[in-house]
Amino acid sequence: MITSPAFANKRYAVLGLARSGTAVVETLLASGAQVTAWDSREEPRAALAARHGAALTFEDPVAIELAGYDGIVVSPGVPLNRHPIAEAAADAGVPVIGDIELFALARDDLPAHRVVGITGTNGKSTTTALVHHLLKSAALPVRMGGNIGIPVLEQEPLAAGGVYILELSSYQIDLTYSLACEVAVLLNITPDHLDRYADFPAYAAAKARLMAMQRAGQHAVFGVGDAETSAIADIEAARREPEFIHRVTGADIAALQPDWPSLQGPHNLQNAAAAVAIAEALGLSQPQWRAALPSFRGLPHRMERVAEAGGVLFINDSKATNPASAAPALGAFPPRSERGNAKRIHWIVGGLPKSDSLDECAPFFGNVAAAYTIGEAGPMFARLLEPHMPVRRSEMLSEAIRQAIEAAKPGDIVMLSPACASFDQFRDYEARGDAFRQIVEALTEPANDTGGPV
Ligand code: ADP
Repeated sequence: MITSPAFANKRYAVLGLARSGTAVVETLLASGAQVTAWDSREEPRAALAARHGAALTFEDPVAIELAGYDGIVVSPGVPLNRHPIAEAAADAGVPVIGDIELFALARDDLPAHRVVGITGTNGKSTTTALVHHLLKSAALPVRMGGNIGIPVLEQEPLAAGGVYILELSSYQIDLTYSLACEVAVLLNITPDHLDRYADFPAYAAAKARLMAMQRAGQHAVFGVGDAETSAIADIEAARREPEFIHRVTGADIAALQPDWPSLQGPHNLQNAAAAVAIAEALGLSQPQWRAALPSFRGLPHRMERVAEAGGVLFINDSKATNPASAAPALGAFPPRSERGNAKRIHWIVGGLPKSDSLDECAPFFGNVAAAYTIGEAGPMFARLLEPHMPVRRSEMLSEAIRQAIEAAKPGDIVMLSPACASFDQFRDYEARGDAFRQIVEALTEPANDTGGPV
């Protein structure tokens, strides 16, 4: 666990006691702070009470006098644009922060280290995991945290010379004020999460703050695929020397991409280019990163190959929760010329919609043999897609998989790339991806011919 004298004798309220909130409470208590914690669910409160007894009090910060607190630490899941805590904290003049801000405040007391912060609408986890892989392969001590894996405060501090690699969503950046990353990365900005921001420029501005928190002598890496990211790169370029600004196109490493089985598609070239720029900014040599790229294994639910049966490949891309992230998956499997240019993708799409269009996917509609629509977005997507391709209104994931298996020919691909959130039918994108894998396995298992009627 990370602790710091910076929190000793301070007073904090902690709202939201999922894994990162619980780690915050542990860090603060171990650092000698006074803590008032809250979660509307009884279970995490009971777990903390059992461990800490009277050392910890439980009260909803919305209902107490906040003046005198040094900070309200909220979980990134709390919608600050709607939740009453934002106004209550502002009235009392108390900052609303997150676990990453506490990490930033604790940095002065950690052994000498560097921090990489990675943000963007899509590709954050892949790039974070890839940077972790590249640095680890070069024998640097590394920890991965933020929006991925174990909360950073829960992890053991690194020895001197280590690198913390943080995946940061815009919600986490909104709760962070003092994190000056030695290397910060902005991959891309496309419309998403607009329920949490006034408009698209406000969402882009949230991402821009990761770079704005840096000092001029720190490195910033930018994708080049959209105007919002480029505009932020221009602002940062105006206040830094050119050697600290890296705009990555991927052109210089594209020839190597065939050797990276888990980094296929144009989006992964962007992720790899960003990861290489980060690695070089941290001092890795070309032979070091080049040797490590082919052995990257990828992450579950991101264009993950889950099965191959009867010549049909099954791909779980459940993490594609918006149209911009589904598009590259569709783009990765063009028709094969040796098969008479037959379209190959059986696309399972739908869920809880985030927008009323699939425009970002449209350039790749020519790769789709048929679409199978599911979930709340199903009828809307069916109407959008029917002019362009055969559509089955499957409604349920299991039905969509069954119909796709029936229609797929050897060489085809059955792919779940929903372009939607999962919450209409599943707990989260992981549960949706696990369901896809299990149903595919059940439906493609070789027939069990013992015990049935003869
Ligand atoms: P995040 O952590 O930002 O959600 P992931 O690395 O988990 O990103 O990838 C999520 C989805 O976005 C994947 O399904 C993938 O197809 C797509 N994707 C990954 N990288 C990019 C990128 N650089 N640009 C656009 N889409 C991407």
